[in-house]
Amino acid sequence: MFDHLIVGAGFAGAVCAERLAAHGRKVMICDRRPHVGGNAFDHYDDAGVLVHAYGPHIFHTASRRIFDYLSQFTLWRPYEHRVLAHVDGKLLPFPINIDTVNMLYGLELDEHGIEAFLADRAEKVGHPRTSEEAVVGKVGRDLYEKFFRNYTRKQWGLDPSELDAAVAARVPARTNRDDRYFTDEFQAMPLHGYTRMFERMLDHPNIRIVLNTDWRDLASEVKFANLVYSGPVDAFFDYRHGALPYRSLEFVFETHDRPIFQPGAVINYPNEHLYTRITEFKYLTGQEHPKTSVVYEIPTADGDPYYPVPRPQNAELYRKYKSLADATRHVHFVGRLATYRYYNMDQVVGQALALVDRILGRRAETGDRAA
Ligand code: FAD
Ligand code: UDP
Repeated sequence: MFDHLIVGAGFAGAVCAERLAAHGRKVMICDRRPHVGGNAFDHYDDAGVLVHAYGPHIFHTASRRIFDYLSQFTLWRPYEHRVLAHVDGKLLPFPINIDTVNMLYGLELDEHGIEAFLADRAEKVGHPRTSEEAVVGKVGRDLYEKFFRNYTRKQWGLDPSELDAAVAARVPARTNRDDRYFTDEFQAMPLHGYTRMFERMLDHPNIRIVLNTDWRDLASEVKFANLVYSGPVDAFFDYRHGALPYRSLEFVFETHDRPIFQPGAVINYPNEHLYTRITEFKYLTGQEHPKTSVVYEIPTADGDPYYPVPRPQNAELYRKYKSLADATRHVHFVGRLATYRYYNMDQVVGQALALVDRILGRRAETGDRAA
């Protein structure tokens, strides 16, 4: 008899398992994949290079609480992520900053000059609703077309005008020389990798891990008081209202017989190729190795669900599933797929910590094991 069956051993499931087990609950956590870590899973490839199986994962958070929580399970390697974009035959710092504009157009603007340059080109959009409006409202049409329009069409199979403003607004436009991808206070990679961190989180006598197993195959065999579900919410309800769109990716890995492949961790290709970006893992992990491994990300409609697709009609469909979820007793929905939110890892950790507080609080209030 388990107090909780937790579906999914990614950040959402693992944080819930760890916290509940620490509070004396007996937990079974399952994943249909052959490993823990969810999309953050990393492993050593055939050449011995540490790679992220589901694309590059860079940890960053503004929350000391979340960073301190994870720090119980890993040491960190300080790492500030930088990205180059291949535009007009040049490799330019991205997000757009002073140097991007100067290198692209052959200018020598300073901070005042760039503010005037962007103000001159930014279109008046009021409060931006779409990703197109979010970008042209900040940097104008030419930079939008060179850096955003085609990348977004490739990544989502949709024009930026069809996506919520929040998608492209993840990437700022800067009027200084800061060329980091993120500005959060805490930016670091788990020193020995994500998988090792998850193994330590889940190493507890109250936690039983079952891999290669769909939760539905367990549900009939295992007794549990309630379920914590971090898989896709539409699948849980057998697609009763139709399939929620999730965007997928194909990952193509290559190992090269030389220490360095490209001049930075990630190079974005907005305008050429089927892939959006190439990541070279050794920059992220700091590993020293005579060979190097890279991954190309090719967006696809079919395949494992990786991204919820933020646009109004999908939010509306999700609301229907959310009503079903809210009305389903003894099941808690958490994580990027189960709550259909374009969340980063730290946001999922925060969401899972909040859920556990509610689960433990509710139990304390009502004495109800919800079984
Ligand atoms: P997941 O990691 O998807 O875990 C859900 C698990 O549930 C999966 O392992 C799945 O196999 C399992 N599951 C589903 N259905 C069932 C079932 N029926 N039975 C059993 N198991 C089931 N975030 C960052 O902060 N920084 C980054 O740099 C970053 N880069 C990213 C790059 C890519 C390409 C992608 C796709 C995501 C990236 N993210 C990044 C986001 C990050 O991956 C997510 O925020 C995080 O992994 C979500 O955790 P989760 O537990 O909600 O979901
Ligand atoms: N984006 C873009 N050009 C780029 C990088 C990002 O147009 O070179 C847009 C695109 O719509 C992308 C979104 O900004 O999906 C968010 O980018 P981010 O790097 O945060 O995406 P993720 O790492 O989550 O795939």
